[in-house]
Amino acid sequence: MSKPSVAILGLGIMGSGMARRLLSANFPLSVYNRNREKCIPLAEAGAFVAATPREAASRSQIIISMVADDAASHIVWLGESGALAGASPKSILIECSTLSIGWIQDLAAKATGKGFQFLDAPVTGTKPHAASGELLFLVGGSAETLDEARPVFSVLGRDVIHLGPVGSGALMKLINNFLCGVQVASFVEALSLINAGGLDRSKAISILTAGAPGSGIVKRVAERTMANDFTPNFALRWMAKDIAYALDSASTRGVSLPIAATALVAFQQAIAEGHGDEDFSAVSKLAKRPIDR
Ligand code: NAP
Repeated sequence: MSKPSVAILGLGIMGSGMARRLLSANFPLSVYNRNREKCIPLAEAGAFVAATPREAASRSQIIISMVADDAASHIVWLGESGALAGASPKSILIECSTLSIGWIQDLAAKATGKGFQFLDAPVTGTKPHAASGELLFLVGGSAETLDEARPVFSVLGRDVIHLGPVGSGALMKLINNFLCGVQVASFVEALSLINAGGLDRSKAISILTAGAPGSGIVKRVAERTMANDFTPNFALRWMAKDIAYALDSASTRGVSLPIAATALVAFQQAIAEGHGDEDFSAVSKLAKRPIDR
């Protein structure tokens, strides 16, 4: 069976890995990125570089967006040269970025209003998982549409979990990320006390990561902190964005997340201190002193 043509809109850390993965599996691929320089390596690897999301969409059966936030998603789908204007009636539109539920529902309504099939399919996993096809897709939308898109998901991911109607994938992803953010912010407080109490940092961190508090995310941050390596796999500003979207989604459902709100303060403080473009683990740089409340 011939492979469906695919568009990737957004060639950041995640989108560029996903695009390479599709090329290596011989999918006909069009790419779009706001900063065109990021398209050059993909063009060299065989992708068609589109001048606009609209052009990328017009060449593709499956259109995937992997951009920063709600504002970026709005531009790539609905802007003057947005993908919705170029997609053909049978196209499947997939939003993989981590976005607010409100925006996902607006976008889905606009897409389905024009007769397109739409899935929200945010991912867990980070840079190496995007590059090696080991993402986990959290999908909201119709099971039939998901089945049609499966050949693409199988190349990009280790698994696909269908959570329910549109917006369910986005909600699950925000819950996943605020829980990660809370654990990391709490680890920063532990570091502050380790420092202030004069404990051997390396021994103390080994005890925590080898014991009950050593979740996957805490281990990742501990490793980066010990190595003093904050090269971004997942930018700190996007962790703050995700916690903020989670708080917003919770409050519209009458749920308060006070611990997540406190964690957000830590990430916002790290952004204010100039660490927004570093890996989210750079929030550990706050550990020299207590987090402002
Ligand atoms: P990234 O490296 O910062 O890339 C962001 C992408 O969005 C770039 O292609 C950027 O284009 C584009 N963009 C930003 N603002 C735009 C605008 N106004 N108009 C058009 N394009 C715009 O981010 P990433 O790490 O790939 O993350 C992408 C999404 O996946 C985010 O929603 C993030 O939360 C989510 N996510 C990330 C990870 C991770 O580990 N990195 C894991 C799971 C989910 P330019 O190149 O032109 O700036």
